[in-house]
Order: sequence, then structure tokens, then C-alpha cells
Amino acid sequence: MTDTSAFTLQGRVALVTGCNKGLGQGMALALAAAGARIVAVNRSAPDDTMARLQAMGAPALDLRADFTDVAGYGALVAQAVQAFGRVDILVNNAGTIRRADALDVTEADWDAVVDLNLKSVFFLSQAVARQCVAQGGGGKIINIASMLSYQGGLRVPAYTAAKSAVLGLTRQLANEWAPHGIQVNAIAPGYMATDNTEALRADADRSSAILARIPAGRWGTPADLAGPVVFLASAASDYVNGFTLAVDGGWLAR
Ligand code: NAD
Repeated sequence: MTDTSAFTLQGRVALVTGCNKGLGQGMALALAAAGARIVAVNRSAPDDTMARLQAMGAPALDLRADFTDVAGYGALVAQAVQAFGRVDILVNNAGTIRRADALDVTEADWDAVVDLNLKSVFFLSQAVARQCVAQGGGGKIINIASMLSYQGGLRVPAYTAAKSAVLGLTRQLANEWAPHGIQVNAIAPGYMATDNTEALRADADRSSAILARIPAGRWGTPADLAGPVVFLASAASDYVNGFTLAVDGGWLAR
């Protein structure tokens, strides 16, 4: 029989951003199912996620933050520590996308996307890593990248720039924090059926072109990230550093 004990998250505390719905919700539920206590950090009350965690009997803390402002990340981590005594895992999931021709993108749209998808990823990682170093015992940081960490895409210049930078930042932080026992990795979801891709799925031509190119023959779902996120959050991945794992139904392999 295979020993799967390395995958348990019993006793660990996982801070997950933007988990009121979509991929973040799927990952928060998966981490809780593996035994983690969840610190759910959202702009608005994550009622559905909290109800599901409660139904599972999973301890969870509901915290509010808007990640366009990097001030206050230390206080956020302090609240998590006050409630659960420690923070071991960070999933930098909150993100946004704004679609416009590159000729028309405004500075405000650029800043909104890059501040949330890149700047907040760094500063929240820094706040959690400081706590992990102070408490000892290492840690796990999982950034949410994208197919546009590898490819150019269309009509999403700020998103592509930010998600490509997330791949590089994941490598950079992995190098610096490996001596502290902190592994920094990323997950690059393929085309997933969430609000983020609503406009694409509503466009019949784009939607069928995308679907035809996915070897798995379907759009991904939040549940498709469950195994990968638990693996990267657990001791099973202790020798995996700085890697971005595509969970894309084979999109990049084509
Ligand atoms: P979603 O729109 O359903 O979820 C985005 C989450 O980010 C929500 O919880 C939202 O409240 C939160 N958020 C947005 N702006 C915020 C802010 N200023 N402060 C705090 N939270 C904020 O979309 P999703 O598909 O679940 O996206 C989750 C992550 O996955 C994002 O980083 C996204 O870029 C990435 N991603 C999605 C896909 C996809 O196909 N859906 C593919 C690759 C990467």
C-alpha cells in the first residue's frame, strides 16, 4: 500500500486569498479536506465558502482585505497568528483580468491588474515568509500563474506581463527562501470555467476555438486544482522549489 501520510495538512494553517468563489474556493476546500485550518482573505464576505468549510467541520477564519493596497499585510498575518498560532501555507490566488486592445489600455487598467496580480503577490509573500522564518519549521507559498505566464495571449497586455512576472518571482523567492525551508512554487491553470473566463466562454467563436485546442476536451474546473494544491502545500513536495506546474488539460503540450 502507498504511504500517503506526506500529503496530510493536519496541524497546518493555510491563508488563501480570493476564495469566496472560483479557483480560490476550490483550493480552500481541498486544503481543508487535507486537514488544514483555513484563513480566508477576501474583499467581501465569503459566505458560501465559510458555509462549506463549516459543513466539513474545518476550522476557518474570515478576514477582509482589498489587495490593491499593500499596507496592512503584516496586520493580516498577525490576525491569523492570533487565531491559529501560526501560518504555514499561503495561496496567492486573488487576481483580475481586464480585456482591451493594447492600443486602448489605460494607465488605470494597467495599474489595477499589475498591482493585484503581481505587487500584492510579492508583498503578501514577504509578510507570510517573515512569519514562517520567525516561527520556524519552513513554509509553502503557492502562486497562481496562468497560461499567459508562457504565452502572449490577445487583448490582455497587463495580465500577461503580470502573470509572466509571477513565474519569474516564484523562482526568485524560491532561491532566497529555500534556506529557511520555505518552498515557493506556482500553479498555472489552463482555461477554467470561472468568472475570470466568462467573457471568453460567452464568445462562441473564441470559446469553440479554445475548447478544440484542449487535449482533455473540456474546460477545467476548480476541483481540478485540488490535488496539485494539496501536493504543493504538503511535505510531499519538500524538494520541489521554484517550479510552475501547469494544470491545463494538456494545453501547453500541444
Ligand atoms: P474569479 O474572478 O472567480 O476569482 C478572482 C478572485 O480574486 C475573487 O475571489 C475576487 O474577489 C478576488 N479579487 C479580485 N480583486 C481583488 C482585490 N482587489 N482584492 C482582493 N481580492 C480580489 O476568477 P478565478 O478564475 O477563480 O481566478 C483565480 C486566480 O486564477 C486568478 O489569479 C486568475 O488570474 C487565475 N487564473 C484563472 C484562470 C481561469 O481560466 N479561470 C486561468 C489562469 C489563471
